[in-house]
Amino acid sequence: MRVPLIAGNWKMNTTVAEALELVKAMKDELEKVTSVETVVCPPFVSLVPVKGLLEGSAIKLGAQNLFFEEKGAYTGEISSMMVAELCEYVIIGHSERRQHFHETGDVVNKKIVVALKTGLKPILCIGERLEENEAGRTEEVVAEQLSSSLAGVEDLDGLAIAYEPVWAIGTGKPATGEQANGTIAFIRRNIAKAYGEKVAQEMRILYGGSVSSANAAEFMQQPEIDGALVGGASLKANEFLSIVNQTSIINHRK
Ligand code: PEP
Repeated sequence: MRVPLIAGNWKMNTTVAEALELVKAMKDELEKVTSVETVVCPPFVSLVPVKGLLEGSAIKLGAQNLFFEEKGAYTGEISSMMVAELCEYVIIGHSERRQHFHETGDVVNKKIVVALKTGLKPILCIGERLEENEAGRTEEVVAEQLSSSLAGVEDLDGLAIAYEPVWAIGTGKPATGEQANGTIAFIRRNIAKAYGEKVAQEMRILYGGSVSSANAAEFMQQPEIDGALVGGASLKANEFLSIVNQTSIINHRK
């Protein structure tokens, strides 16, 4: 049985003080939920103080990005080793990075390789754009993203995938549970073809895109969906808590 994973992607939100407030507001309640793995991914500058606050806690810390080079003259970048000193998880290939920072499949692949090598658990984001969805190309696009992101990667241990249709991110227009479940089943079949059935069955595949306390149950009830990557709703303590709590209750019934 796959342990559900709920990760909060705070994006470029919260000052250090606000990040600490947000963690303080949900920490005690989140810790009561033992059947769901919970991760918060604040901006880089808040990782150290948030880590301090989470000392001894079951809540995990994640980064939103890393750079694939080990060290050197890359002003402004953060290496995998630096992230791994603080975090267990790292989000890689988020559509906002692909869109605004022109991250290609090749760049995403290099980041996945270095993250796994450093012992980090990457959350690899894939998903189609609206026009691709409307053209009926969803499976073709996610299959291509999957193979380019994982090119040459032999061991997927620790890796989770987030299926995030771009048209659903930050729009308040999520996919339906059924749509997301269908595409996630397709992703799992692709993983099985490339890595074998055992790896595919153990891999956690999340849905992301306008998940909130109002629709979380619809996604978590689906047999193929193992959790969520949550953006906007992860910035509100009550919302995030409710998503985690609902996931825990539904998972017991699954
Ligand atoms: C995300 O940032 O990955 C995301 C899914 O955002 P939102 O939940 O706001 O759509």
